[in-house]
Amino acid sequence: MTNKALTAGLEFFPMLIGGRRVDAIGGKTTLSINPYNQQPWAVVPEAEANDAELAVEAAREAFDNGPWGRTTAFQRAALMRRLADLIERDAEKYARIETMDNGKLYKEMLVQWRYMPEWFRYFAGLAVSNDGQLLQNDRTNFMVYTRREPVGVVAAITPWNSPIMLMIWKLAPALAAGCTFVVKPSEYTPVSTLAFADLMQEAGFPAGVFNVVTGGPAVGAALTNSKQVDKVVFTGSTQVGIAIGKAAMANLTRISLELGGKSANIIFEDSDLNAAVNGAISGIFAATGQTCMAGSRLLVHRSVHDEVVRRISERAKTIKLGDPLDPETEMGPVVNQVQFDRITAAVRQAAEDGATVAAGGGADQVKGGLFIAPTILTGVTNRMTIATEELFGPVLVVIPFDSEEDAIALANDSDFGLACGIWTTNVQRAHRVAAKVRAGTVWINAYRIVAPNAPFGGFKQSGIGRENGVDGLREYTESKSVWVELSGVAPDPFTLN
Ligand code: NAD
Repeated sequence: MTNKALTAGLEFFPMLIGGRRVDAIGGKTTLSINPYNQQPWAVVPEAEANDAELAVEAAREAFDNGPWGRTTAFQRAALMRRLADLIERDAEKYARIETMDNGKLYKEMLVQWRYMPEWFRYFAGLAVSNDGQLLQNDRTNFMVYTRREPVGVVAAITPWNSPIMLMIWKLAPALAAGCTFVVKPSEYTPVSTLAFADLMQEAGFPAGVFNVVTGGPAVGAALTNSKQVDKVVFTGSTQVGIAIGKAAMANLTRISLELGGKSANIIFEDSDLNAAVNGAISGIFAATGQTCMAGSRLLVHRSVHDEVVRRISERAKTIKLGDPLDPETEMGPVVNQVQFDRITAAVRQAAEDGATVAAGGGADQVKGGLFIAPTILTGVTNRMTIATEELFGPVLVVIPFDSEEDAIALANDSDFGLACGIWTTNVQRAHRVAAKVRAGTVWINAYRIVAPNAPFGGFKQSGIGRENGVDGLREYTESKSVWVELSGVAPDPFTLN
């Protein structure tokens, strides 16, 4: 429970359940901490399992009996477009909230917020073309068609790195399909999701369609264990994703999991090295490496290895660390002490395992706090722990390769399969390698590009299912086949018609 003296003067952000802004039933609150100065800046409800149950009941009621169930796709699309306009209007305010909560650069959060309306506009378009199909059939007295119906009550559990963007990748298709929604943001970054509820209310979504409940793993578990939830969608670590998948399976609750990565960024000897070096830098140091798609394994052809290491190390040493709200800052702190300790320990271990520090090397001694120096490690093999485990921090390992086959084998020699960058000027090679890499997204001479219409998700332990695009909408629908007898003749009870 939060000490009253600590909360004095801080804004309180309530939950939204069944159309009402509420505190946790138990009355507990907790603080949200700004990673830049490690000071509390907002107060939020510290909910428990019974709060999650109420939120699910509200979403269930809204789905089964509320006006939402009677809306047409065109009406839902109109609400979504209104929401898009409101997000556009308030992008600056909300980007600031995100930065205060997760320490990522304000300018990056602003770009995310300004792009978010497109998700709602794109899925508003898909909502009205979410059609079933009239099927061919081999009986003359029947018509058969399919309907695509909403999967029902969706429970979304989100991580701290991009709380709203990763929520709207779920919310936009869920609303388009006609689902109702309960979201539990990360306990480290709950404020933006609580604040976003204002926009949902202002846009005019009926009570219970969108609900927010805050808290930690116990609240998440209450959602995944609930029989009243039809689908759990999760973005987070592979370890928690597996636990959620097992819990959901007990009730055969549908799941989509967007999990971790250890993505390869491959620089061939025939690449434009300037572009490749920039791609390698932004692939790992943008967002302080705190993105699932971070290009954390840099595979470099041996003939250009030393040159690439020299260039990226020089650039890494000039990256400007500082206040994420300052437009001059290029890299902010990591999100919390747990992450800080984990990353610095992993870098120490890598050095003990034989890696060479080409830049950085752990905590940034000048900035202090939760700042980690942009770190580049060479002399790494693909099987060292630093090359196999996701770190979620600004640490790049560089691994040399000798041939195209070698590069593909190294890229695929990972439990993960989220993304891959390919840097080459050889068009045949680019497509050949893109086809052979086992990853859900491949960028050729680019890195970290996403769009509402391009499916995103993982092979292997990077997840199950896809977000965005038509594939993303399908995740929120059930297919129903409807058979219609056309002749009006009573069927023979003992033969199939
Ligand atoms: P996390 O797995 O620790 O937590 C994510 C969420 O799950 C939080 O809201 C947390 O409270 C909740 N949770 C934890 N244990 C739970 C349980 N047993 N049952 C139900 N809910 C539970 O992840 P994180 O540290 O917040 O985020 C970082 C991870 O997210 C990284 O592994 C990263 O790769 C992954 N990520 C993946 C994508 C993607 O699209 N593939 C995008 C961003 C982040």
